[in-house]
Amino acid sequence: MNIQRYKKRLLDLEKQLEAHSEREIKDGQEELIDTAHDLGDSSVADVAVESHFTEAELDSIILQQVRDALARIENATFGKCIVDGGPIEPKRLDAVPWTPYCLKHQTLLEAAGRARNWTL
Ligand SMILES: [Zn+2]
Repeated sequence: MNIQRYKKRLLDLEKQLEAHSEREIKDGQEELIDTAHDLGDSSVADVAVESHFTEAELDSIILQQVRDALARIENATFGKCIVDGGPIEPKRLDAVPWTPYCLKHQTLLEAAGRARNWTL
């Protein structure tokens, strides 16, 4: 497995998510200020503000997973399922390089409703 390739992807992703989440928060704040100035159609503005902050929140959840994956690269456990230590399918890692679970455990967790499969 080419760890360096995943590491680079995860580092790029970390940067993108940080930038995107900052932008969403900023947009959300600007939208809030606009709303304060213009009470004309506040329900529409509320939804817009909400969606920016929801996006930022989603980013921060994935960002945390990306950072956890980078930490696993550092301690040489990357690519292993955190439940049973088994190998994570290469196709899964290519699609979702920050995933901490093999397909079996991801499926089990999803079935139990305790995890969600975050994809960008
Ligand atoms: Zn597993």
